[in-house]
Amino acid sequence: MVEEIYQSTKQDREKWIEEKDYNLFNLESHKVFIDLLTDSGTGAMSDKQWSEMMTGDESYAGSQSFLKLKETINTITGFKFLLPTHQGRAAENVLFSALVKEGHVVPGNSHFDTTKGHIEFRKAHAIDCTIDEAFDSELIHPFKGNIDLQKLENVYQQYGKEKIPFTLITVTCNSSGGQPVSIENIRQVRDLSNQYEIPVFFDGARFAENAYFIKERETAFKDKTIKEIVLEMFSYGDGMTMSAKKDGLVNIGGFIALNNEELYKICGNFGIIYEGYLSYGGLAGRDLAALAQGLQESTEYTYLQSRIKQIEYLGNKLIEFGIPIQQPIGGHAIFVDAVKFLPHVPREEFPAQTLGIELYKEAGIRGVEIGTILADRDPETRENRYPKLELLRLAIPRRTYFQSHMDYIAVALKNIFDRRDEIKSGYEISWESEILRHFTVKLKKK
Ligand SMILES: *Cc1c(COP(=O)(O)O)cnc(C)c1O
Repeated sequence: MVEEIYQSTKQDREKWIEEKDYNLFNLESHKVFIDLLTDSGTGAMSDKQWSEMMTGDESYAGSQSFLKLKETINTITGFKFLLPTHQGRAAENVLFSALVKEGHVVPGNSHFDTTKGHIEFRKAHAIDCTIDEAFDSELIHPFKGNIDLQKLENVYQQYGKEKIPFTLITVTCNSSGGQPVSIENIRQVRDLSNQYEIPVFFDGARFAENAYFIKERETAFKDKTIKEIVLEMFSYGDGMTMSAKKDGLVNIGGFIALNNEELYKICGNFGIIYEGYLSYGGLAGRDLAALAQGLQESTEYTYLQSRIKQIEYLGNKLIEFGIPIQQPIGGHAIFVDAVKFLPHVPREEFPAQTLGIELYKEAGIRGVEIGTILADRDPETRENRYPKLELLRLAIPRRTYFQSHMDYIAVALKNIFDRRDEIKSGYEISWESEILRHFTVKLKKK
């Protein structure tokens, strides 16, 4: 499919973003030229996926498309039981309804925002055990998504298996910059968790991209295929939640995959209440079929190589221009270090959001803040939480933009970088919601 994209003038954009309370989520898509808000559900499907859409089986129960998806997921991940859900957060909702209770803690590597939301909503806590190297944006480390085993063991010792329903490994790790987790680290987390009898689950949204980095960076795996690496990676887990809108290469969808039949049955009940019957979980049969094909394609080396090289191309251009970005370059996005980029804008005035607004006004490019607005308030003190990194994420949709778009993005950022000393103030919040405030926050100029 080819889609039209829309050009506009700087004057238009200045007016539009002010009208939308300086929240980039509020902009209509035709007011955006290059949309890097997210890589979630924004990619293009292949000819083979579209043909699957045509032959999807829409039976309520026992759909052939469900069986095809189940077999594919079983082959690719090794997990036996499948519950489709309408997207990743729905998978979290169903699994956590079964496992997470008030007062629990869930350790992991920088939990995704909806994941944390679903944990905190149940009056439990997410504890970040990511290695410290992840928070130094210019430090080169091949696996910045790794879990610090000492931090993890401290949590295990403090809370024990009664209070820890599972440890969650997010592959790749979004909040620390699309950074991968090594098989070695996953294995060690598994061993440690076995000692404490704590299950291990994966948040697998970008599992294929993670496997690509393992192949490229973990010597023992350089001759393995992506599918072999994926199978080994998941062999250390008890199950996974998945947002299929990422490495499923579809526009909507998600699932839970599990080994334990008892847990599958409990989750199945929640699934039926929240999502739909066991064999469709809020999706059409054709969606299940397109996802089965998407998972086959996303775990092919040639696809992953072209995707990740495109992001590397953009990142290298920015590095050439001296623009501070998270390194090494991650899997699905470029993360610009906004505190270094805009040193005059105080943390209280949201430098990453400020840079995002500047980039939109400059060139019609929409990125997203991964910083203080996203980090939200502490649920108890209601104080702003200041994360270690204040990033503007430029997420690249899969199979959507060309190299010339990457050049345009790089030059737009350079134009702002050249006049960064003129940007001295940011924004303040005029309205926010109780939870997940970044989606709907209203801002005004400071
Ligand atoms: C997108 C995402 C989710 C949530 O999935 P949705 O499909 O957006 O509901 C959870 N975890 C990670 C790592 C994600 O990237």
